[in-house]
Amino acid sequence: MFKHTISELKEAMVCLEAGQVTLGYPFVPHAPDANFRGKVKVDTRKCMGCGACANACPSGLIMMNDGPKERNFLFELGRCTYCAACRDACPQEAIVLTPQFELATPDTHDLRFRMTFRLTRCIECGQPINTERVVNVARERLIHEGHEHAWLDVCPSCRRKTAAQAHSHEAEAIA
Ligand code: SF4
Ligand code: SF4
Repeated sequence: MFKHTISELKEAMVCLEAGQVTLGYPFVPHAPDANFRGKVKVDTRKCMGCGACANACPSGLIMMNDGPKERNFLFELGRCTYCAACRDACPQEAIVLTPQFELATPDTHDLRFRMTFRLTRCIECGQPINTERVVNVARERLIHEGHEHAWLDVCPSCRRKTAAQAHSHEAEAIA
């Protein structure tokens, strides 16, 4: 018993000498370190609606749906594991994982985020192709590199049909 009390007293002395070793949070604000991965945020000015983040998210929380005129995104951030795969996949560097970590909420709507982008249509068949922003970014790059860009206005299916027709005309001309 006496031996036990001595050991406890020694432990108490060690603790007193060490001073405060725990964080003051939540009584004082806590600033996470620079590499902390908190709430996902999308910069909608940079985002072009390509969907690379939706394909990369292992939690499947970034849902992308194409309607007749628009592409819609829904982020269900309540299921986020803060892995940063979406950030790493984004070609526009539009996603950041902010220092925000106090995310508890009684309303799941608080952790939902939506974006909508207009779609371009194939000039031949009228089917949706991609978002206007994706097409514009691709066009700018092609123009900058001195390449042809009119094909961006035609859907892959119509491009294949045109290529097959051209091929068959060539074959007829040779025969
Ligand atoms: S951080 Fe990970 S889990 Fe969260 S949205 Fe991005 S890819 Fe999905
Ligand atoms: S990967 Fe980037 S640019 Fe593409 S939809 Fe996601 S946030 Fe937008």
